[in-house]
Amino acid sequence: MPNPPAIPSETTAILPDPAAVHASALVIDAHADTAQRFVDESWDFTSPLAIADQPASHLNLATARRGNLAAEFFALWPDPEQCPGARYALRTLTLLDAVREQVRRHPTELALCTSPKELLAARATGKFAILLGIEGGHAIENSLALLRLYYALGVRYMTLTWTNSNDWAESSGDLRPKASTGLTDFGRQVIAEMNRLGIMVDLSHVSDRTFAEVLTITRAPVLVSHSSARALTGSPRNLTDDQLRALAANGGVCMVNFYSAFIDEPYRKAWATQKPALTAAHKKLAAEYPKGTPVPYYIANRLDRDFAARLPRPPLSSLIAHFDHIIQVAGIDHVGIGTDFDGISALPEGINSAADLPKITAALLDRGHSPTDLHKLLGANLLRLFSATQTQADSTP
Ligand SMILES: [Zn+2]
Repeated sequence: MPNPPAIPSETTAILPDPAAVHASALVIDAHADTAQRFVDESWDFTSPLAIADQPASHLNLATARRGNLAAEFFALWPDPEQCPGARYALRTLTLLDAVREQVRRHPTELALCTSPKELLAARATGKFAILLGIEGGHAIENSLALLRLYYALGVRYMTLTWTNSNDWAESSGDLRPKASTGLTDFGRQVIAEMNRLGIMVDLSHVSDRTFAEVLTITRAPVLVSHSSARALTGSPRNLTDDQLRALAANGGVCMVNFYSAFIDEPYRKAWATQKPALTAAHKKLAAEYPKGTPVPYYIANRLDRDFAARLPRPPLSSLIAHFDHIIQVAGIDHVGIGTDFDGISALPEGINSAADLPKITAALLDRGHSPTDLHKLLGANLLRLFSATQTQADSTP
């Protein structure tokens, strides 16, 4: 009898080349806090990551190029600590202006984009695409007029809250009494206006009831720009499995946050144990500044990094597990990358800057995900959501 034909074993199958898969993808990151550096450190996007003794950061033009990152949403975050007199719009507009100045200074390398079409055009001409998002609905100072003006200036998503609740939306970091709702009547008007304009509604940071209430009223699919999976890491900043399923039903996308305390449960617990000492150190630092003068963010951030450096970094596999989980629960069409670069004090092992993004692709291919699925995760899903938001806005009477 002739020998039966050999069954190809897994080891002999041709595996996709991770570098080629990553290089052929349109890679978009939904969230980085880099804009503060332009304002507070007078730092330039084409400069090396670190200047003098200031902390190294995660994203500049060189690392974006090395990581094949095509586009970044820069968060305009009016950190309440940085807004004396609650002048949130002033801080938001100062950050926005600083981003525009970067683009003005480097017109051959950078492009400010306000639509999927512009993003793709930037990519085609080899320019790094910069997009704008607002982090924290307090930025609109309870004014739909300000919301519309932010849109006119290029803002294309808004996180309804940051860690603070505002007058119209409740945050996961600042829960209200049980009888309250997640959104007020004005909050519902904000969502309707965002839908009408074509600003993506971003549900990172909001409380569970805000999340649920928004999904019942939004006409457009929603963005979750920088959150991970709560089933794996118990932070209220992460989405539960029920929320992931609701997000999938809405057509939205959850962009996985890379922060160690959101992706690794032992790290999160160690960080929580350390928190009282860190809070005390921040208070001591603030006392060194005159009353009413905020501690510059990069100085405060240095303290966070010093404390973070005392804890062992989680393995890269912890981060990869969040991608796997969200794919399993919500589906491959509802996951993306929301690094939170330059806004976090600790990253998993192996990820030090945007230059390391290809390691995500390699690890996920290794776990059996296909190149087609990887392309969705790396950018196509967010591009689809961005397009859908604008299409439904255009069709609004
Ligand atoms: Zn955030």
